[in-house]
Amino acid sequence: MRSDFDKRAERLPLKVVDSVRTASANKVQGRFQAIASVFAEYDSARRQAAATKEYVLDNLADLLVELEASCLKNGVQVHWAEDAEQANRLILGIVSRAAPSALVVKGKSMATEEIGLNERLIQEGHQVVETDLGEFVVQLDDDVPSHIVTPIIHKDRTDVKRTFESHGLSPRSDEPEELAAVARARLREEFRRADVGISGVNFAVASSGRLVIVENEGNNRLSTTAPRVHIAVMGLEKVLPCDTDLALFLRLLAASSTGQRLTVYTHLVCGPRRPDEPDGPEEVHLVLLDNGRSKILNGALREILKCLRCGACLNVCPVYRQASGHTYRHTYSGPLGAVLAPGLDGVHSHGALAFASTLCGACQEVCPVDIPIPELLLKIRAEVGATPAAPWPVWAWFAQRSARWRMALKALPMVEPLARPWTEHREWPEPSGVDFRRWWDQRP
Ligand code: SF4
Repeated sequence: MRSDFDKRAERLPLKVVDSVRTASANKVQGRFQAIASVFAEYDSARRQAAATKEYVLDNLADLLVELEASCLKNGVQVHWAEDAEQANRLILGIVSRAAPSALVVKGKSMATEEIGLNERLIQEGHQVVETDLGEFVVQLDDDVPSHIVTPIIHKDRTDVKRTFESHGLSPRSDEPEELAAVARARLREEFRRADVGISGVNFAVASSGRLVIVENEGNNRLSTTAPRVHIAVMGLEKVLPCDTDLALFLRLLAASSTGQRLTVYTHLVCGPRRPDEPDGPEEVHLVLLDNGRSKILNGALREILKCLRCGACLNVCPVYRQASGHTYRHTYSGPLGAVLAPGLDGVHSHGALAFASTLCGACQEVCPVDIPIPELLLKIRAEVGATPAAPWPVWAWFAQRSARWRMALKALPMVEPLARPWTEHREWPEPSGVDFRRWWDQRP
């Protein structure tokens, strides 16, 4: 997995930075308006959500056992996966039993990104088609998502049109409606032929066994109902105690992630097709994925397991907006990723991400379940110990005396080769406008 991210983060053109910055700013605005229109008392809604999530973490083992019992009663087959390897093996077994060379249609699922499921299924001779529009483009581009909610936040519509053209999809224009129509026409046929549908899970209700999936495109509905077999993959922490909790969490998630009052579709999967139902899958499987979550639950980063994957902390983060998701070299990016990645994989593999933060606190402020992300980042920093090498002492030496500073500015073009490790991943910024000092000296 890491090599994919390395490949994508090789160079970060300014156009990508612009796309991410513009889209993030729009999302921040959308969230702000949605929260104002949905919640009369947002602070108390947020406190209630955080308390429910605290209860979930305190009682996670019992709630998961209850969820399993409810799912079994509904006819859902439940599988427990300790790590990515076990999850992939389990899913591979189900898919291979459905068809030796199965066609698998997939809804958007960060848990399956986390375990590298697509690569594994393809290696074993199955065909996998991502059906979320953004994920579809990511797959055509042989790319990886750069945002947990908006996988192609780093692209604009001209990029998407170019991708479609290079795969013979020939849209007439780069209008979003046209691009969506072209993707829809292509994907309809895949849904019709698919043997297996794979989805993520936004919430799973312990008392009723309902698997809740939210989306805006309808592709999840087709992925979970058209094929004969549906496999839902869920991180352990997504469980909620009761159906009544959904009233709050569905609104919080929609407002925080996409600036909506509710997402366009909310699916409540209650098991396979009943004898009196005209359609739906014959088998529904739920894969409960640990993959490091139990370790997080019992450690200092426990609170990150309250995360709803809304993406609000990414959109507001000054570092994410400048760096984009690929730079984090992990499935989870932004402030969430800077805590969850070291939590899942160990601070020694991704602990440096905790230093990619200004600790401004914006992430906690927008988090719908009030996760103290800056505090968690400080805990990771303390565990990692050393501060990564930074150029600030050198900068400070020059900045303390105006003669030194003038000399440094003159020497700047010669320094570019020394900055190669930095410019390998970014474009060297061109100075814009006139020299400030000259302007200052010459002003009337
Ligand atoms: S940490 Fe909070 S703001 Fe960030 S994705 Fe998770 S729930 Fe959303």
